[in-house]
Amino acid sequence: MLDITPQDWRLKAASLKFRSQAFINGKFTDSVSGKTFDSINPATGAVLASVAECDATDVDLAVAAGRRAFEDRRWSGMAPGDRKTVLLKLADLIRVNVEELALLDCLDMGKTITDASTIDAPGSAYFFQWYAEAIDKVYDEVAPTGPGNLALVRRVPLGVVGAVVPWNFPLDMATWKAAAALAAGNSVVLKPAEQSPLSALRLAELAAEAGVPDGVFNVVPGYGETAGRALGLHMDVDCLAFTGSTATGKRFMEYSGQSNLKQVWPETGGKSPNIVFADCGDLDAAADMAAFGIFFNQGEVCSANSRLYVERSIKDALVEKLIARAQGMQPGDPLDPASKMGAIVDEKQTQGIMRFIDHGKASANLVTGGERVQINGKGCFVQPTIFSDVAHDNPLARDEIFGPVLSIIPFDREEEAVTMANDSIYGLAASVWTDDLSRACRVSDRLNVGTVSVNTVDALSAQTPFGGMKQSGFGRDLSLHSFDKYTALKTTWIKYKL
Ligand code: NAD
Repeated sequence: MLDITPQDWRLKAASLKFRSQAFINGKFTDSVSGKTFDSINPATGAVLASVAECDATDVDLAVAAGRRAFEDRRWSGMAPGDRKTVLLKLADLIRVNVEELALLDCLDMGKTITDASTIDAPGSAYFFQWYAEAIDKVYDEVAPTGPGNLALVRRVPLGVVGAVVPWNFPLDMATWKAAAALAAGNSVVLKPAEQSPLSALRLAELAAEAGVPDGVFNVVPGYGETAGRALGLHMDVDCLAFTGSTATGKRFMEYSGQSNLKQVWPETGGKSPNIVFADCGDLDAAADMAAFGIFFNQGEVCSANSRLYVERSIKDALVEKLIARAQGMQPGDPLDPASKMGAIVDEKQTQGIMRFIDHGKASANLVTGGERVQINGKGCFVQPTIFSDVAHDNPLARDEIFGPVLSIIPFDREEEAVTMANDSIYGLAASVWTDDLSRACRVSDRLNVGTVSVNTVDALSAQTPFGGMKQSGFGRDLSLHSFDKYTALKTTWIKYKL
């Protein structure tokens, strides 16, 4: 796919057909109100599609369809091997349509076509395959209750799962929720972010083509305050899986308390520290990965390594290497495979990032970047930006910017680095660079985060749980632990005569 030229991608993009209606009960349908909202390409400002604007009425219809499907067991009652076959077919269909799905995310939220076509879309296929394969390999338990008793402890699907996801990895965030929830036998009502609804709608269509029965996978595009809130407050949604900001995660906890005490699994923001010790044996690798850790996906990554703590004796050498890396990652046309960074998702996010950068210019040492730029005279693009000598209490080092902005903070002692790294409301991820195994273990033990990457950044796989501590939330996506969210433990206790 890397040999496709920018011109080819542009031609493919021009011939794309966008699915813009809601997907409810196996069919594309307008919102009941008839209202739509525009999906805009942040690289050009062009309107891609007018998308159905769902509200509480449409959410009711989708939840009712999901409930009907769950109660008549058309999916939850299917033999595990059959459910597996359907989801494996969906994984295959995603692979067949990988260019189209990649283009949808690229156009809708500005990520580069290279990342979308080599990471996001193939990743979605892989995650569906991984959960499909797990369906008939996870066993339940028999409890040790003694003679005359047989106590079965089984994982059973919950019913209707609401999934509300952000725009930074539109297809993959939808997949992380839907693949595990569907594999467990639930019905799903997915609300994609209003900035990036297009790939989720196509995914629902592919799911139907693969054989996911009507009503089992529904997609309701719309705004958070209306469609998202309606799902959160719905009396017939059993579980709400959320990925997004910490503020919205807190709202979902409130919605649950105000409605039916549905399970809420928030996976929220981050401000991940990356600690580079002087005994790191490969400073070039540390620089490469530090740059990747903050500039990949334009820095719009929940676990972005946005705080770099560097031991003072190697600070100047590392900063020099980082400047070179940043300068080689200037934003470009997302449809050009040579572009290392694409567009920021929208005008609002771009302005928010620039406010942080302007504050940084007045309060820290800007070493590279710092400007908003245009590509072909248009769009929302921000240069990869690095501030060094950032004070630990500077908002640059404390707040989630969700853009390509790195704050470098020097330290002198291990203890000081650990204390500063942990001094955050967030606890999603952290990285540590050292060749001293004892130090790697000691520091990893003390970092209060969901994932510590040693001598790499952002380590992630289908096999390992992903999620945070503190105000990064407590839900876990990926791995078999994701089934903890989408199943209840049910005990059936049978007495028999000895
Ligand atoms: P957001 O919280 O604004 O929106 C996320 C989703 O919630 C969207 O679908 C939105 O429509 C909906 N929403 C917004 N307000 C709502 C409300 N009042 N009621 C109900 N629903 C509402 O977040 P965002 O700006 O789309 O995404 C960026 C955030 O997502 C960052 O904080 C990032 O760290 C986080 N994120 C976390 C993870 C993780 O796994 N922990 C992964 C990706 C992104």
